[in-house]
Amino acid sequence: MGQKKRVIIIGGGAAGIFAAAVLGEKTNTFEIIVLEKTRQLLSKVRISGGGRCNVTHAQFDPKKLTANYPRGNKELLGPFHTFQPQDTTQWFHKHGVELKTEEDGRMFPTTDHSSTIINCLLDAAKQAGVQIRNEYSIRSIEKTENGFRLHLDNHDPIDCDYLILATGSSPQGHALATSLGHTIVSPVPSLFTFNVPTSPLLDLSGITIADAELSLQGMPHKQRGSLLLTHWGFSGPAALKLSAWAARDLHACNYRTDLFINWLPAQTQEEILNTLNTCKKQKPHKSLDQENLFGLPLNLWKRLLQMSHISPGATLGHISDKMLKTLAQQLSASSFAVEGKTTYKSEFVTCGGIELKEINFKSMESRLVPNLFFAGEVLNIDGVTGGFNFQNAWTTAYLAATAIAAR
Ligand SMILES: Cc1cc2nc3c(=O)[nH]c(=O)nc-3n(C[C@H](O)[C@H](O)[C@H](O)COP(=O)(O)OP(=O)(O)OC[C@H]3O[C@@H](n4cnc5c(N)ncnc54)[C@H](O)[C@@H]3O)c2cc1C
Repeated sequence: MGQKKRVIIIGGGAAGIFAAAVLGEKTNTFEIIVLEKTRQLLSKVRISGGGRCNVTHAQFDPKKLTANYPRGNKELLGPFHTFQPQDTTQWFHKHGVELKTEEDGRMFPTTDHSSTIINCLLDAAKQAGVQIRNEYSIRSIEKTENGFRLHLDNHDPIDCDYLILATGSSPQGHALATSLGHTIVSPVPSLFTFNVPTSPLLDLSGITIADAELSLQGMPHKQRGSLLLTHWGFSGPAALKLSAWAARDLHACNYRTDLFINWLPAQTQEEILNTLNTCKKQKPHKSLDQENLFGLPLNLWKRLLQMSHISPGATLGHISDKMLKTLAQQLSASSFAVEGKTTYKSEFVTCGGIELKEINFKSMESRLVPNLFFAGEVLNIDGVTGGFNFQNAWTTAYLAATAIAAR
């Protein structure tokens, strides 16, 4: 039997370890080595989802799933027909890990502990014969006649036939890809919350609005969903999703812009005004703070009345039509001055990375350099919060491993 061909995977994160395990399980015709520059493996998995690891999302329709990726939505459609959250769930099930689905669709291990996922991935890689080498930092990659030669800090060079770059958002990984001729779409942060130091709602921190719609001055993006008032501004799924879709525009304006909140997105401004006018006619002796007409959290409702210059206790009969119009405007488009961002601790991600046009999304192979593959966050792909970023790692890693296994 001839010598085994060698596959090197650079990066011991979710994408790298998953690719190694899947490849080793599919075939034993390769020597598979993971090189990780730090002492740790899967370090982001450990801290992910607030320590619980939001592995994926219970969205099993590939088309609908792609709608959660501000970058990569077109490109991921094909890959999701091959490996999607259902396949992720089955893979973990086959390896003894059960996932549960929370009300909002996020999927976690039933243990609620990221170590379950880490142990599972590392056991699978070990069982599949994968060699893992920590503290191997790649200085440069040389293209050889049949593959690649990796030059390392503190170790002899290593040759391989196939290479998977799974270095996440690391600038070092981007530099290695550039040296091989790839283009990097400049990285900027995604998934953050909005700082609004002048917000009159800061003391209402902790209140959640189940359904609000957020938009930004002069930007096309709108996001609807649950919104959390914080002591620094706004968070919650609607804010985080907006930060992802508008990541580049927000970076360009240095995170300074006007944020508009529609507190009642299910109604038009005209409908809101009609409700207010009808109430004024029917109950002129009542005050609006006694009549929480739209079911908003009471403290927020009272604050929105104040923001519309309606004095507490003023009876409807004494509130002018103009003031009611101002209130209707406030309810459908309150304006807040964003002055910066705050990192969301449960999940954050980088927008930017390898230019997607340079990748074949059937195999995750480079269109520029044969036998070079990419997986995970190193690509210019990122999802909104909810398990979509790991799903990108699992899917692209699976595709790369499958393509190499078929060689
Ligand atoms: C706090 C936090 C919480 C998160 N929570 C979630 C969540 O619950 N659900 C979700 O879907 N997503 C979550 N994410 C996003 C998710 O963690 C990433 O999208 C995912 O880890 C990307 O996987 P990856 O393997 O591509 O990259 P990474 O996990 O970043 O792994 C890359 C690896 O490559 C190594 N490396 C880099 N350069 C080199 C080099 N030159 N040589 C050798 N090794 C190198 C790095 O050290 C690292 O170990 C979270 C992110 C953060 C920061």
